[in-house]
Order: sequence, then C-alpha cells, then structure tokens
Amino acid sequence: MTAPRAPRADSRAAGRFGQVVRGPALAGLARVIAAETRAPCEEARRRHDLWPTAAAAVGRALTAAALMALDLKSPGAVILRFRGDGPLRGVTAEGRLPEGADDPIAVRGYAGEPHVDLDLNERGKLDVGRAVGRGTLYVVRDMGRGEPYTGAAELVSGEIAEDLAHYFLRSEQRRTAVALGVLVAPDGSVAAAGGLVVELLPGAGEREAEEVEANLARLGSVTAALAGGADARELARSAAGRLDEGRLLARPVAFRCTCNRRRLSAALVQLGQAELEDMIAKDGRAELVCRFCAKRYLFSSEELAELLARARSGPRGVSR
Ligand SMILES: [Zn+2]
Repeated sequence: MTAPRAPRADSRAAGRFGQVVRGPALAGLARVIAAETRAPCEEARRRHDLWPTAAAAVGRALTAAALMALDLKSPGAVILRFRGDGPLRGVTAEGRLPEGADDPIAVRGYAGEPHVDLDLNERGKLDVGRAVGRGTLYVVRDMGRGEPYTGAAELVSGEIAEDLAHYFLRSEQRRTAVALGVLVAPDGSVAAAGGLVVELLPGAGEREAEEVEANLARLGSVTAALAGGADARELARSAAGRLDEGRLLARPVAFRCTCNRRRLSAALVQLGQAELEDMIAKDGRAELVCRFCAKRYLFSSEELAELLARARSGPRGVSR
C-alpha cells in the first residue's frame, strides 16, 4: 500500500548519513580519505536556504571538514574559515570527531550570505571561486585540551579544494591532492556531494606522485562519479590505487549542531543587565538564531526577566 508522502519525507528517503573512509594506499607511501556527503550537504542547504552557488561552496567546505575530522588523531574538532571578499561574505565549516567509535562525524557550517547564485563559470560549473573571492583560509584543530592548533594560507582560487591543497602544502608541508564536488539539482537541492584527499607520505617519490595523478585523471570529475552512484569506498579505491581495503576505517557523517537553549541562555546573561533590560522594554522578547544551523530560539519576556535576575546576581548566579 502506498500512502502520499510529505515532500520532506521524500527528500530524506536516501538517508540522513553520508560516509567517510580513510586508509593506507600505495603500499604505505600514501593514504586516502574519501567522503560521500549528500545528506549532510542537503541538510545544510535546506536549513540555511542556500542558493545554488552558496550550496556548492558550503557543501564543499562541509565535505572538507568531514575529511579532516576523520584525519584527527583524537576526538576533537576541525574548523575551516574561508574568509574571502566575494559575495558569500565568508564560508565556515566545522567537522567534529566524537568520542564514541561508532558515532557519526558531525559537520555544521554556513555562508555569511546564503542567497548567492552566480552565473556559471567559463567551464559551465557553479562559480564557487568568484562567490568566495580572494582572502585567507584559516584552519583550527581543537582537541579540547591545550592550545588549539591554528594555521592559515592565502586562498588561491576560492574553489575550496585548491585552497585546501595549497594550505596543506604551505602551512603543514603535506603533499596532497584534493578534489571536492557538489551537484545541485535543477530544483535547487543537493543531488550529489563528496570528495577526497590523497596524501603522499614521507618516502613517496615522483613515481607515487605520478601514479596518484594518473588515478585522479582516470577518475575525472568527482561530482560526475558521485552522480553516477559512487560511494566513499569507490572514490577511495579509484583515487588511491593499491588501496589496502582491509585497513580501511569507515565512519558515518551527519549534519549536527552543538547549540542548545542553555548555551544561548548563558550567552544572553553574558550580554549584561543593560542589554537585557533594553530587550524586555523594547521587544518584550528575544529571538536568537544559531549561525551554524539556523535554528531559532525564542525567549519570552518572563524568561528574559529570569535571565536578567541571573545577570544581576553576578557570575555566581550563572548556571553551568
Ligand atoms: Zn546550531
């Protein structure tokens, strides 16, 4: 029996998770990380109402964050900030590797301006480079203890993948090939998304570099491969060559945010008495929107009064 379905249920029919895999290749002289990320990229598109060029930029950045999260040595987060002068007014993506070995990698992210839809570039592709613009890529790895590791490199094209490869080389002296792709359907939804990083390890020479190059040339467009139904494993297999499949590590990936009402309450208390009094007097309520996931939090006048009382009672009144 078939029942009519709500459009939302339909768009989720393909599942809420993508997948990221990581493993050694080229007899230990390289390693590959590959991801299929349609579901989290579509979730970001829907939550932020991203127009096509913005959906491609944020999707590529989310995919990069997922790839780098699986590359973390211990649970923690990697944050990528593409601070460009283009109409997107910056793109931010975060990937979090959770403690639990089976928990999904959580990605979240946004563009400063979600409503960007530029003409296709001269190659007939979504013009992510122009939408991001010129500027700097900042990378932060936060393992939850000690100083977070921060690096930066100039954006070379704003196309995200090239910028990341350039960052790896300049800031971390790592030789990588990076490919990222997002296919936006005519209805504006994300039809396919994913990407890969192949890294040449110490000991790899010209021969290995050429082999990776040849593999990637054979693979062609990542977007086309994904649109044709390739999953993370298949991308890894075709990119790496001599992939050690027995040692392949796989993790699901989903769009997830860490925001909650308690955190935003604490942020409101932090604003201080004057600001809270002003909100109560002027609007009688406050609406806060999480930048990362676009979730809206509404605080009533009564709730604001309660937070004001907490602000008045000083730091000790702030609940942990
Ligand atoms: Zn959020």
